[in-house]
Amino acid sequence: MPTANVRAAQPEGKPLVLNVVRRAEQMLIQNESRVKEYLPITGLADFNKLSAKLIFGADSPAIQENRVATVQCLSGTGSLRVGGEFLARHYHERTIYIPQPTWGNHPKVFTLAGLTARSYRYYDPATRGLDFQGLLEDISSAPSGAIVLLHACAHNPTGVDPTLEQWEQIRQLMRSKALLPFFDSAYQGFASGSLDKDAQSVRMFVADGGELLMAQSYAKNMGLYGERVGALSIVCGSADIAVKVESQLKLVIRPMYSNPPLHGASIVATILKDSAMFDEWTLELKAMADRIISMREQLFNALKIRETPGDWSHIIKQIGMFTFTGLNSDQVAFMRQEYHIYMTSDGRISMAGLSSRTVPHLADAIHAAVTK
Ligand code: PMP
Repeated sequence: MPTANVRAAQPEGKPLVLNVVRRAEQMLIQNESRVKEYLPITGLADFNKLSAKLIFGADSPAIQENRVATVQCLSGTGSLRVGGEFLARHYHERTIYIPQPTWGNHPKVFTLAGLTARSYRYYDPATRGLDFQGLLEDISSAPSGAIVLLHACAHNPTGVDPTLEQWEQIRQLMRSKALLPFFDSAYQGFASGSLDKDAQSVRMFVADGGELLMAQSYAKNMGLYGERVGALSIVCGSADIAVKVESQLKLVIRPMYSNPPLHGASIVATILKDSAMFDEWTLELKAMADRIISMREQLFNALKIRETPGDWSHIIKQIGMFTFTGLNSDQVAFMRQEYHIYMTSDGRISMAGLSSRTVPHLADAIHAAVTK
């Protein structure tokens, strides 16, 4: 059975390959001068430049001043791991603060890279929203220089993001304590449908001239899950430092996997550098994001019609692929047993896995679970 992830945008939950991706692949196959040689340790140069531009913005001062070192990595996970390994070797503070809760792989990736993972409060079950006060308190009490992992948008698993005003407060606090931001961007464009809007949090931090790390994934927004395409960018204080950082990143990567794979990065570079293909991608991306937003509305309305007890407005307020339903593990087990609905025991559902056909069944199950 396909995972919810690969069913991102199809009306009836079928795996989807974006048309623009198919077109890019055809172009690559038809180009007979293409060879299968190794990429450099840092990956495809065009891909790296275009990826930095995509997340930081074409007019980013950090890019113009050559302060960004970017390396192609194995999707988001590989980018986080290479960044973690680099920090464990070269950065003076080994503690990384990660939100509670967070994507389940974060603590493992960073701990195995040699960092010490600690958590900061993020989610308030009572409001099913952000525990902003708790977040500020925990970040305030982190030791100066500590690393802080931030989900750029569409926080996984909660679907709860800070507002722009809250991001600004987080930025000011972090910069005042010299905390190092490590952004994880696995859903750019997938949250709001706009690539620029979903990068606003990151761009705020770049605009202040400070340092940061950025792990980018093309798994969701280009549907390239299994191609393992991503990038790690380190925004440095100067162009000189960026050159040194890149050379140290090579020393991290070389003994891990020598150099990254060619195919997926070539697809991404083909799309990002051609303005017509880029536009086509943004339309397809918006359609995926809109479909998920529509699933949220359909599920919310279905619960309203059933008069299911409780406030379900978080379903339409939360952002991105996941909804943190607030269902407890007993209710999740009941829904699995009685309705054959499978979700993580923390009550997280992937909205991408839903379709108009399956929403009523899910709403029936939620209703039965909360009224049993
Ligand atoms: N970060 C977050 C927050 C994620 O949700 C995911 C995927 N679920 C990733 C990183 C990594 O994904 P990938 O390695 O497939 O790019």
